[in-house]
Amino acid sequence: MKIAFIGLGNMGGPMAMNLHKAGHTLSAFDLSKEACAKFAAEGLPIAASAAATLDGAEIVISMLPASAHVEGLYLGSDGQPGILEKIAPGTLVIDSSTIAAATSRKVAEAAAKKGVAVIDAPVSGGTGGAIAGTLTFMVGGSEADLERARPVLEKMGANIFHAGAAGAGQTAKICNNMLLGILMIGTSEAIALGVANGLDPKVLSEIMRRSSGGNWALEKYNPLPGVMETAPASKNYAGGFGTDLMLKDLGLAQENAAAVRASTPLGGLARNLYAAHSLAGHGALDFSSVIKMVQKKI
Ligand code: NAD
Repeated sequence: MKIAFIGLGNMGGPMAMNLHKAGHTLSAFDLSKEACAKFAAEGLPIAASAAATLDGAEIVISMLPASAHVEGLYLGSDGQPGILEKIAPGTLVIDSSTIAAATSRKVAEAAAKKGVAVIDAPVSGGTGGAIAGTLTFMVGGSEADLERARPVLEKMGANIFHAGAAGAGQTAKICNNMLLGILMIGTSEAIALGVANGLDPKVLSEIMRRSSGGNWALEKYNPLPGVMETAPASKNYAGGFGTDLMLKDLGLAQENAAAVRASTPLGGLARNLYAAHSLAGHGALDFSSVIKMVQKKI
């Protein structure tokens, strides 16, 4: 399968590498020269521009930060045309970025007019899941388009869910990330409280992991440095899932909640806490660094 892959960041890079290793013919691009150089060094074929990846592509995959990037890529921005006008009819577009459901629907509708199918397929599982090829995909779009995408998604993920029509994958994703943002703060508070009382954070984390407070952060992503070697916390919060990306997702959840008049008090509080953490200069650090807000300074 010939695949165009656009966006080689913390998630997109390893996802593209898994498709490359699975034997697909990739043509990849990122605006960041460093990102291109990093994956070129691992053997990933890099194109000169996003449009240049499209030559002969049967599937186009994008993994970009936010709504504006995705809309700009496909539909254009600042008077520049988007790549949609260069995508051949019959091509399938898989956008795995976490963006507003309304933007997913806007891109899908514009593409449908050109005979190009689009599914929104945001992911969960973190950079570890992207590297291991064990991501969870939450897909919005038609059943038929999901079935076309499935063999490719299976090379990057272990769980594939059809959430509903266009945009439904995004809605499922922001529900999940609202819960993740809240549980990371709660986990941080509990660990900080134990440490302030002289408990060993490794012992406390293991107790809670195997008790009723057990959760994904305690399983795979402990926020305190030194507890879990593989977690971003033990790598100075580098890589992983940026605080500003979590802030974006919690903002999407609040916009959505306002639109449907849902009550999400903890989601609103979590958005404000990550906003304060970002304003304190931690926007580029992994979101688990939110523990710094409640941790005793030594
Ligand atoms: P990232 O910032 O590491 O990577 C995004 C990449 O997109 C960057 O390398 C950037 O240069 C590139 N880019 C931006 N606009 C571009 C364009 N027009 N053309 C080509 N490249 C462009 O972000 P990430 O952590 O890889 O996350 C990507 C998406 O996945 C986000 O929507 C995020 O919310 C979501 N997500 C991230 C994680 C995670 O753990 N990091 C987990 C699940 C979902």
